[in-house]
Amino acid sequence: MSDTCGNCGAEITSGGIIKGPNRRYSDQQTQILNFVSGTRYTEICEKCGKGEFEAAIWQLKGERQKCQDYMTANVVDFPMMTISQIPPGADCKIKSMVTANVTVGTGMFSELSQGFSDMFGATNVNSGMALKVNSGEATARSILVTKAVAMGANCIIGVDVDYGTTANNAATVNMQGTAVVIRNLDAILDEDVLEKFSQFEASLARAQEITRWLAGDLTPDSVPA
Ligand SMILES: [Zn+2]
Repeated sequence: MSDTCGNCGAEITSGGIIKGPNRRYSDQQTQILNFVSGTRYTEICEKCGKGEFEAAIWQLKGERQKCQDYMTANVVDFPMMTISQIPPGADCKIKSMVTANVTVGTGMFSELSQGFSDMFGATNVNSGMALKVNSGEATARSILVTKAVAMGANCIIGVDVDYGTTANNAATVNMQGTAVVIRNLDAILDEDVLEKFSQFEASLARAQEITRWLAGDLTPDSVPA
């Protein structure tokens, strides 16, 4: 007796010399499709469900990408402060030190003089040292935030930035800080800063949620896209 798809009746086969394969989707994959599209399939195969399944995954990944793009564009909204002492009134738990070391290009010394001409528009700012250092700082900041977020932190304190050069004359940006969780961020952040960060946090939470869904972890209180 041949194995057939419970939805469309097509034969489930790993393929032969002439026929191509028609695989059945796993329960987990069927569940994801039902969840995203509001369908109620008990099983689907490549023949009847491929288009819908791929559209559902595409939709989830697209939404996650939007969240990631938002976080990348708004990484400055993640609270980072140079103060090394925990502000009074903050309910703070320390996670760990976070570091980032970024090499921003060679020619630090030859380009140092160019830095001044950058100020007067004499050189192409797209290749100038100032731009390299600024983008190096932005990269270092993103690295710190990424590490802090992975730890479940919502703030980085004691942030310190150093600039240096390597033996082969490349400029470096070295940034470090302490990732912490502050349970009452509203007690120490200004309202507009807090508001921006809550949007950042919402994007992060959504991206993490979608990642769990894609891994098949659908809880009863999951809300579809
Ligand atoms: Zn089918």
